[in-house]
Amino acid sequence: SKEHVLMDETAIRRALTRIAHEILEKNKGVENCVLVGIRTRGIYLANRIAEKIKDIEGVPVPVAELDVTSYRDDVSNPSAKEYNQSFTSSSIQDKKIILFDDVLYTGRTVRAAMDALIDMGRPKMIQLAVLVDRGHRELPIRPDYVGKNIPTSKMENINVSLIEVDSEDQVVIKQQ
Ligand code: 5GP
Ligand code: MG
Repeated sequence: SKEHVLMDETAIRRALTRIAHEILEKNKGVENCVLVGIRTRGIYLANRIAEKIKDIEGVPVPVAELDVTSYRDDVSNPSAKEYNQSFTSSSIQDKKIILFDDVLYTGRTVRAAMDALIDMGRPKMIQLAVLVDRGHRELPIRPDYVGKNIPTSKMENINVSLIEVDSEDQVVIKQQ
């Protein structure tokens, strides 16, 4: 199978730095913002952005983790509801939620994440940040912040490696 590196460590770092600045600009700071990472790699992206925001702006921003598998319409995982109990309604209510995921594809995961959040409280707003948008949406969902737009065929797969779990930072496209 053919492989092609689309983002290396430097490209990923620059994209995340840009997104941190875009978040600060769009929201005029991070007051009332909560970064919510979708398990697994979205969590590491949310944590990295929170660190960058702290460096740039000198203020902390809360980060929470979300597992949405039980909310997906095509898969189910009974343990996910339990995992989400780390959330309280006050961490959602009237907050500007910025969702993080590694790859945006059909949009079903993000739809499920919005359902899960709205079940727990009433956010003031929900925004979406992804490292890679590979296209092929099946729902009317678009990201507010994008690391890289990578048009793909459905036969291709994007491999996202993050140092926290994969020992390196890299985005690779793979022909299946
Ligand atoms: P969607 O729900 O939008 O169809 O797919 C997005 C979810 O599936 C994300 O959580 C993402 O991690 C995963 N995903 C979908 N396509 C890809 C892909 O090509 N590569 C990777 N690494 N994850 C994908
Ligand atoms: Mg995922």
